[in-house]
Amino acid sequence: MSADIRAKVAELLPGIRRDLEGLVRIESVSADPARAGEVERSAQRTRDLFAAEGLEVEIVRAHEGAPPAVIGERPGPEGAPTVLLYAHHDVQPENDHADWDSPPFEPTERGERLYGRGAADDKAGIAAHLGALRVFGEELPVTVKVFIEGEEEVGSDTLPALLEQYADRLAADVIVIADSGNWDIGVPALTTSLRGLVRMDVEIRTLTHAVHSGMWGGLAPDALMTLARLISTLHDDAGEVAIAGLHSGPAAEVDYPEERLRAESGAAPGLEWIGTGSAVERLWTKPALSITGLDAPKVEGASNTLVPAARARISMRIAPGDTTANATARLTEHLERHVPWGATLRTTVVDTGEATQIDATGPAYDAARAAFTEAWDGTAPIDMGVGGSIPFIAEFLETFPQASVLVTGVEDPDTRAHGANEGLHLAEFERVIVAEALMLRNLAG
Ligand SMILES: [Zn+2]
Repeated sequence: MSADIRAKVAELLPGIRRDLEGLVRIESVSADPARAGEVERSAQRTRDLFAAEGLEVEIVRAHEGAPPAVIGERPGPEGAPTVLLYAHHDVQPENDHADWDSPPFEPTERGERLYGRGAADDKAGIAAHLGALRVFGEELPVTVKVFIEGEEEVGSDTLPALLEQYADRLAADVIVIADSGNWDIGVPALTTSLRGLVRMDVEIRTLTHAVHSGMWGGLAPDALMTLARLISTLHDDAGEVAIAGLHSGPAAEVDYPEERLRAESGAAPGLEWIGTGSAVERLWTKPALSITGLDAPKVEGASNTLVPAARARISMRIAPGDTTANATARLTEHLERHVPWGATLRTTVVDTGEATQIDATGPAYDAARAAFTEAWDGTAPIDMGVGGSIPFIAEFLETFPQASVLVTGVEDPDTRAHGANEGLHLAEFERVIVAEALMLRNLAG
């Protein structure tokens, strides 16, 4: 049976690949108003591709002028579960063409990969869903619904409205979100946790106006030095976040090899890692805090003046299991308690996004794990965390609390989604389709 599916995918692959290439040639950059027509075109092409698989398909939008999403449905056998397949048809800007080794919107095969903007993120997600449906042709084992969004790369602003307006037509027992990735070439993964985010601007004021550093230095502290001291209290000497009351949790026991960490992070020679615990704990299930911006006078032209006020932006990733309300309160408390020398502190929350912990148990997860293990020749999927946040996943969990949400995808550590030379690993892509088809079969029971 699994051999049949494998053979069928191999036979279908050239056609799936052609359809993927057709999608990549459409410049559906949602962040570029000048290419709104291309986003429309990619929605139409996506609609046509699913219509050809016998789905009842429609382009929908939250309101007039909102980005186009594609929704569709094809019923399976009486009593079979309903599976909603998610992907997005918009892409990130390609940025400087000079950074690409081949034109970003001309899909090009080199080595083991197919290069192009969206070749992986996330037009390959659409193609994987199509491929899995084609395996079954007229005999779908489950009722299939699709939801292909057109604004994921610009923050999914109208997603909550769409999910609400079309809740009945999107409701499902299982939701497969194909917009993440696998652990490594040859090692599949299910994404089960995502960190949340709290961004806060911190302003320190020590003087009502600038004064001569020779006249007042030694008595009055300048704001930059004061801010630097405050910032330095946010980590201990080991680089562990030193804010009391933040949540941390355990991560899967996976080894992230040192060479991979060095290569993928772009660490400068000799750099030491910060924090404690396994690498994946530090990246997925513990809080992290960085300074991502600083307002201060430029070095060039700096005068002998005590700087009266300075500002920094704190970007804090919070662990699955924590809440942005708790993290914001603990961070504010810490800053108030540690501000030195009676300086005036002002904090402003910039934005927040909740962390996500997916309950990765139950029959849908059993079906998925068995399918992945089979597709990867006996290698079981690992429960992967993502250090960043994907807010739309929380939207699905909230709108459909009774559904099992499976977060999968085609990406691998060298996909370079959002960067130049984005590329899809073709052999892994084939396994992703096999896995999805096996999963649909397993979900049918
Ligand atoms: Zn994506």
